[in-house]
Amino acid sequence: MAEREWFDKDYYQVLGLTQSATPKEITRAYRKLAKQYHPDTHPGSEEKFKEVSSAYDVLGDDVKRKEYDEVRRLGPAAAGLGGSGGFNFQTGDFTDLGDLFGGLFGGSRRQRAQRGADLETALHLGFRDAVMGVTTTVSLPSNEACHTCKGTGGAPGSEFVPCERCHGRGVINDDQGPFAMSSICPVCQGRGGRFAEPCPNCHGTGREPSARRVNVRIPPGVVDSQRIRLKGKGNPGTNGGPAGDLFVDVHVAPDSHFDRRGRHVTTSVRVPLTQAILGTTVEVPTLDEPITLKVPAGTQPGTTMRVKGRGVPANGKHASGDLLVTVNVTLPKKLTRQQRSLVEQLAAALSEPAPEGVSGD
Ligand SMILES: [Zn+2]
Ligand SMILES: [Zn+2]
Repeated sequence: MAEREWFDKDYYQVLGLTQSATPKEITRAYRKLAKQYHPDTHPGSEEKFKEVSSAYDVLGDDVKRKEYDEVRRLGPAAAGLGGSGGFNFQTGDFTDLGDLFGGLFGGSRRQRAQRGADLETALHLGFRDAVMGVTTTVSLPSNEACHTCKGTGGAPGSEFVPCERCHGRGVINDDQGPFAMSSICPVCQGRGGRFAEPCPNCHGTGREPSARRVNVRIPPGVVDSQRIRLKGKGNPGTNGGPAGDLFVDVHVAPDSHFDRRGRHVTTSVRVPLTQAILGTTVEVPTLDEPITLKVPAGTQPGTTMRVKGRGVPANGKHASGDLLVTVNVTLPKKLTRQQRSLVEQLAAALSEPAPEGVSGD
């Protein structure tokens, strides 16, 4: 763990303030920056976040701030008592964001209840699980940089596409008012762009997937790219504060048999020409057991048949979806001489009562 002398750092500058800042201004600046650099929402900004938190831990506390101002006024020599632990503190890697909010001084100073941090993770589901709902485990993100992409979130060798808004600078200048201010680019969140291909290990978060896993219940009917909020599954709160939320970004794998249309599941069956003409029964796969479907005589190509209740299961808000089966009529590609003569007879027979194109029905 790196020990750093706190008086070396200009904490006012870190928070964008001067030494005359009021406690209110300090808190406001801290909140704004902590949000801007929060590693959960802005991976790769851990260092900056720690710096901001450290600054606030000192400046946000009247006693510490006075000591800090004093030491900085007198110069480093005044801090010779650092060995006693009075003026040194550790800025080692944190294992839990809750620790940071509890304060780097061991959480002994600020005892007010703090809500735990929100977390964000990705979940890859099969098609069936997405439709039917599933109880599964997801791994929570850690605070360590991903070893595959070194925390960048990009697949190795992936092209970095600069942000169009800030032209890759990560900040935008705010020319209003007498002071030249710059703020974090809202499009790329300060990253300066994005990778064309996300890292396969961390799915673009830049953080190593951790061994911390939680059980989650995924409701039936989630779709690809949906974001599910699981209340209270984020980091625990400190000093009796409530836990944060866990946001799960769902990715649904496509299926070779099935697709989705809202809460309906779609599929198709192939029926030979003659059976479409004469009527038949076919076996249709569903997400449960296969079912037998009656195809009436004269079923036209592309007809969609509805199997009630075999789509997304019902829940409190929605009725169950259906299985929509499209009938694809298949034609023989090659005919034997005999088959051809039979089809010619059929064509002649069909054209007798009402010649093609003059049908009166
Ligand atoms: Zn940008
Ligand atoms: Zn990665």
